[in-house]
Amino acid sequence: MAVSGETTTSPAADTTVRVSAPAGLTVLMTGDQSEPGPADADGRRTWTSREPVARDVSVAAGQFTTAERTTPDGVRVTTGALAGAEPAADELADATVAAIDDLTAFLGPFPYGTLTVPQLPDYGGGIEYPSSILQASPSEEVLVHEVAHMWFYGMVGNSQFRDPWLDEAFATWAEAVVHPTSAEGLDRALGVVGDVGAAMDDFRTWQQYAARVYGKGGAALLAAREAVGEDAFDAAIRCYVDAAAWTVATPDVVAAALADLPGALEVLEEAGALDAG
Ligand SMILES: [Zn+2]
Repeated sequence: MAVSGETTTSPAADTTVRVSAPAGLTVLMTGDQSEPGPADADGRRTWTSREPVARDVSVAAGQFTTAERTTPDGVRVTTGALAGAEPAADELADATVAAIDDLTAFLGPFPYGTLTVPQLPDYGGGIEYPSSILQASPSEEVLVHEVAHMWFYGMVGNSQFRDPWLDEAFATWAEAVVHPTSAEGLDRALGVVGDVGAAMDDFRTWQQYAARVYGKGGAALLAAREAVGEDAFDAAIRCYVDAAAWTVATPDVVAAALADLPGALEVLEEAGALDAG
């Protein structure tokens, strides 16, 4: 049967990636990557990276122009763009640092020591991997969403089949907290029919999945935040992130973190986020 999104569940593991690529290509991947050695007799260079907490890995090889920044907290950001790409590598690097800064302000420290972001042609979205993002959209809102996945999916793992809302609703919520225009897009999403907390086999179409998990899920988290106040809600979410870090989380862990905020629990229960599974 066709399913509408990712369905993997992966534990975090200390991972080393070694990639051999033609000397003309630049590799951007998961983990703290070192400069490649010189080209061998076949004209190839070997790139190596290490990520101590990788659930999956991403490797992109291309004729990238790269830009590098270090955040105030010491996270090394490397972006890459093909000739003529929008945005260019420098602009993408600045936007990525801004996204990390905006998200760190309410989610807590960025989970990884490094982040690579190759800019791909516009396919209307992005795909998150541990400490790497395949950014296939020029949108800064999409970039914030993908960077938010470093917390929700990267650090706080989940079964993307059983509890898809634990990564997608939380990333949509975080994007909406940073970008008011994204929040406006969720205005009426609480009225969508069906449980936010459903598993992937409950959605007949991609539209249903997106409306309920991203839309209604993101809107429910925003409404829960509004119900109890942003400071209390964000503090509870940081407790959730801390409690579930580097594990495969379940909705019970969200509920436990919000136990002292019944107003927030009520909103999430009403949306079918907590007791649908
Ligand atoms: Zn997402």
